[in-house]
Amino acid sequence: MTTKITGNWIEEKQRSGFTADDLKLMLLSSDEEAELLYTAARKVRDQVFGRKAFIRAVVEFANSCRCSCLYCGMRLNNPDGYRFSLGHDELLEIAGRAYKNGIRTFFLQAAESESYGAEWLRDVISDISKLGMGVLLCVGVHQESDLDMWREAGAYKFILKHETSDTELFERMKPGFTLEGRIEWLRILRKHGFHIGSGPLLGLPGQTIDSLVNDLILLKELKTEMSSVSVFVPASGTPLENEPVGDPELGLRFIAAMRLFLRNTLIPATSTFERLMENGQYRCFQAGANVITVNMTPQKLRDDYTIYTNRFYVGLEHARKTIVKAGLTETTEGELLS
Ligand code: SF4
Repeated sequence: MTTKITGNWIEEKQRSGFTADDLKLMLLSSDEEAELLYTAARKVRDQVFGRKAFIRAVVEFANSCRCSCLYCGMRLNNPDGYRFSLGHDELLEIAGRAYKNGIRTFFLQAAESESYGAEWLRDVISDISKLGMGVLLCVGVHQESDLDMWREAGAYKFILKHETSDTELFERMKPGFTLEGRIEWLRILRKHGFHIGSGPLLGLPGQTIDSLVNDLILLKELKTEMSSVSVFVPASGTPLENEPVGDPELGLRFIAAMRLFLRNTLIPATSTFERLMENGQYRCFQAGANVITVNMTPQKLRDDYTIYTNRFYVGLEHARKTIVKAGLTETTEGELLS
């Protein structure tokens, strides 16, 4: 007999623990079942963190990359794109603006490259920390010897998306790299005292539901403090430019499954949902998310950070309206976690 997801089923599984089959069932749930999952996921979020969400600001500060991920417009093998790297003072000015707007988490994101030095980044981290902001890094894999320096300068969190837990798919999507190496780097980050964030890119060509289940299990094993899912949107000029977009409805089920399975983790409402469906980020909050990231990359450069094409840029007003619409109170990360 096929198992049907009911309120009782969800309660029972929260007591006894979700198996891989349960996770799969959640990802394959009907619309009616999914609504029950979303309700339960909101309840868990509210119990663990309160009815609150916080806003962080991201600046994408460099877009030269030594990697050639098949899905990314900034890949090394796309030589046509305009390459930029922001300077220290510009980043400080942007961070100051974010601070004035009540944002206390500053997210420094860049492609993997030699275009910015480890000491330069240390000084940026240090000066932004002195403003009274928590600094979150998403800069890919660098020298292990840089990590303590960045940590001591004030960076306390590091996001490294694992993209997919399917070993073969990972190696196809990220030529020259292995999933094992990626996971090892997440463990190294942990060893150096970082809170870690990871998650999959949902909808990669060839990805299976079983591999998404394994993504959830991997996040649980890694005990990620930040867990996220983005939905694949093809970037033009890449080998995947003609592939279909991922399914945001499946993405919402993935968010609810993360909240129910992982519970005590921060989950962002990522911009690809807003790009792909009406009220996409509001729906992420309704499925258990509690973070939203405002894009503060200078307007003239944003379109050159081509992780996907025709990006949706989250502005502060949109973020605040979305939090209110979801019935949540805006807070800071420090307050949420205290
Ligand atoms: S996804 Fe990241 S590492 Fe891969 S090519 Fe793009 S910027 Fe580089």
